[in-house]
Amino acid sequence: MEEVLKRLVELQKVDLDLHKLESTRGDLPQQVNHLEKRFKAAREEYEQKKQLLLEYQKERNLLEMEIKGLKEKENKYKDQLYQVKNNREYDAVTMELESVRNSVRKAEDRILELMTLEEETDQFLQTQQEKLAGFEKEYQQRKKELEDRIAETEKDEIYLKDQRDKIIRRIDPRNLSVYKRIAGAKNGLAVVPVVRNACGGCFKTLPPQKILEIRNMQSIRFCEVCGRILVWEDRLTEEEH
Ligand SMILES: [Zn+2]
Repeated sequence: MEEVLKRLVELQKVDLDLHKLESTRGDLPQQVNHLEKRFKAAREEYEQKKQLLLEYQKERNLLEMEIKGLKEKENKYKDQLYQVKNNREYDAVTMELESVRNSVRKAEDRILELMTLEEETDQFLQTQQEKLAGFEKEYQQRKKELEDRIAETEKDEIYLKDQRDKIIRRIDPRNLSVYKRIAGAKNGLAVVPVVRNACGGCFKTLPPQKILEIRNMQSIRFCEVCGRILVWEDRLTEEEH
């Protein structure tokens, strides 16, 4: 029976190590995923604004060309004003001239608007570029950390799983199923030592008779409160196997 308890203690230790491995890795991928999303969203926003800035500049260039054309027209109409032969012609040219001047004013207003937009967008891009660099750095660092940790833990995981298989092969299926049932119900912790005369799982003080039975190791003893398997760990772990 002592041998059985020893195997169960070993199994518990390997399972706890495996659990620890999985939980350390379990959090990092989420972090990396979050950082990647943040970085990519910021980059997309940056690219969009950059595109927008180009469009503003393009529109402003077109308007500046348009104004040049309109000014030429304006000069032409001004010249025509001196050549009109009657009031009707004068009114017609004046109307054309007014219309051209209106178009110029509208184009100039839009150009001012565009210049403000360009300045704002440019400022945004400068700030965003710094932010983006920070986001990318953080993302790459975490990603590297995750890759390293996966590489590290993969070796440990393979080793631990191999150990686990070896231990399990030496445990009676009936005892193994008892272990699995308790571990499943008690968050992976099925075998606990007696700690200061109490259950190492729920810390309930154990009666002296029970402690004696646990020390004797003649059978598997369970905690009456939490149902875990109780072991006298000193004797089980001190011995070499
Ligand atoms: Zn207990």
